[in-house]
Amino acid sequence: MRRPLYAANWKMHKTGAETHMFFSEFLPAVSGREDVEIMIAPPFTALADALEADEDGRIIIAAQNMHFEAKGAFTGEISAAMLTELGCPAVILGHSERRHVFGETDAMINKKIKAALEAGLQPVFCIGEKLEQREVGNTETVLAEQLDAGLDGIGAGDLGELVVAYEPVWAIGTGHTASPEQAQEAHAFIRAQLEKNYGKATADAMRILYGGSVKPGNIADLMARPDVDGVLVGGASLEAESFAAIVNNG
Ligand code: PEP
Repeated sequence: MRRPLYAANWKMHKTGAETHMFFSEFLPAVSGREDVEIMIAPPFTALADALEADEDGRIIIAAQNMHFEAKGAFTGEISAAMLTELGCPAVILGHSERRHVFGETDAMINKKIKAALEAGLQPVFCIGEKLEQREVGNTETVLAEQLDAGLDGIGAGDLGELVVAYEPVWAIGTGHTASPEQAQEAHAFIRAQLEKNYGKATADAMRILYGGSVKPGNIADLMARPDVDGVLVGGASLEAESFAAIVNNG
């Protein structure tokens, strides 16, 4: 019922030329997986290259961030309208690096999600606990708080194609993947929280991705869990061969 989604977050990696090279290798390698959706989020400067390289529109090209205001004196920022004008249909919001390196708060992320939805962009809304929060048994409290605050004031009818990504901070870029059981447990909790807020039909239809050191070797076990509807992949999405192996093994 929920179509699997394999998403790549390239972070601050790849020029336009490197993006073209990636697509020329990656697209033929995943030609057998028309049953799944694939998303790639290059840096802003390579978005146009990705859209051009993806000639047949096979891939959902996403931005990695945006500002919540429509325009103004916000040096270094870009707006939702700038992304839609480019032809970019989706945006990652609330990534833990945005939260913990750049100081984004739940309130800012909530404004960004609202602005993205109003512009017709598909948000990939990231949440996740830090190691110290997990160690003291606060995982569910943190997830519920981030989820509720990020979606505050957004009704079920306004969620569009919003996807939630569960990304435990301790698993991002560390090589420490959450076990499939840990991922399933968190995803089931997130879905239950979505059900509390939006009802069963909406919660059942929403996709929840897992992110944190996903690799070709652990994808099958993760995807086998009932509430894992896809993945958000950082490091292992940078090589076409390895991201294609994730898509093909999942
Ligand atoms: C990410 O940054 O969203 C991520 C999951 O990174 P990695 O796969 O490298 O852990």
